[in-house]
Amino acid sequence: MKKSMVTGGAGFIGSHLCKKLLITGNHVICVDNFYTGRKKNIDHLLDDSHFELLEHDTTNTLLGIEHSKIDNIYNLACPASPIHYKTNPVQTTKTCVHGTINVLELAKKTGAKIFQASTSEVYGDPEVHPQPETYRGNVNCIGPRSCYDEGKRCAETLFFDYYRQYAMRIKVGRIFNTYGPRMLPDDGRVISNFIVQALQNKPITIYGDGQQTRSFCYVDDLIEAIMQLMDKTADDFTGPINLGNPAEIQIIDLAKTIIQLTNSDSKIIFNHLPEDDPKQRQPDISLAKEKLDWKPTIPLEEGLKKTIHYFKQII
Ligand code: NAD
Ligand code: UDP
Repeated sequence: MKKSMVTGGAGFIGSHLCKKLLITGNHVICVDNFYTGRKKNIDHLLDDSHFELLEHDTTNTLLGIEHSKIDNIYNLACPASPIHYKTNPVQTTKTCVHGTINVLELAKKTGAKIFQASTSEVYGDPEVHPQPETYRGNVNCIGPRSCYDEGKRCAETLFFDYYRQYAMRIKVGRIFNTYGPRMLPDDGRVISNFIVQALQNKPITIYGDGQQTRSFCYVDDLIEAIMQLMDKTADDFTGPINLGNPAEIQIIDLAKTIIQLTNSDSKIIFNHLPEDDPKQRQPDISLAKEKLDWKPTIPLEEGLKKTIHYFKQII
């Protein structure tokens, strides 16, 4: 049986990944400091004898557990919603940099293969559209998003330096906006905000004029891509590789779709656009299609219906 560690395993994506790894026969060690993760995300896994929870901040060393054999490490620890990563930006950078070093050191010691949950934010406010992996990005290094964007860019640098310096097996996936069940109602990201507002018939808060675009991937599709990347690609394939759904939509159209799918009486209101908010984002997934034999299968409306169903149960 393979032993896999998921840092950030009690978060939105991490909890889905833990579940998938258990189903596919892994022993799973979930490492989380519960900064944005929740026990209830992993409650349903706690009775599984192959699931271990380690409450730990990755900015502190993980080498205490090096005695245990670990085959695969998935480094997801990091707040992902702008409101959360901006709340304590120094901690966000520490998690991306110190945390990533600690996780890489564990991989070095144990010989584990290691996945980095990188992000489309490494492209910043992109001037190339859609974004291929070869695009080097347009990131403001001193703005309020920089703790996350530059932190994640530095994490990629660390992955490639460990790869070159210590011949480690690394996989870097650049994840684009992902949504689905187990997002928190107060997570602050656009899909959770709009669904909760619509279900409560409260105003839908569009930031800016709503002309900005994103491309949303349902979480099951993303998990499939991560599994393929780790299990099916050759050791000499490191990435970076874009993981996302190229179906691009303006935020105003997303709001209208959610109002319609929830039969809501909500009205749309326009609020201040946060500084450095990217104007457009769409992954070029040619590389993922080629290397992973994968493409997203869940259209936005179908994924939104599943997510609306989830939020109806919990709010
Ligand atoms: P999330 O906030 O739900 O999960 C992050 C998890 O990491 C939480 O459980 C949190 O408690 C934990 N964590 C944070 N700092 C930690 C630390 N120092 N030590 C241990 N645990 C820590 O976010 P998510 O959407 O599940 O994102 C997971 C990963 O995927 C993140 O690395 C994020 O940057 C990346 N990502 C997500 C998206 C997306 O659209 N959801 C897009 C791009 C990249
Ligand atoms: N957004 C919005 N209303 C909200 C939350 C977000 O209009 O209540 C916008 C936000 O300004 C951005 C887009 O939706 O342009 C996606 O925001 P999110 O925080 O989900 O992801 P990110 O900006 O990190 O891609």
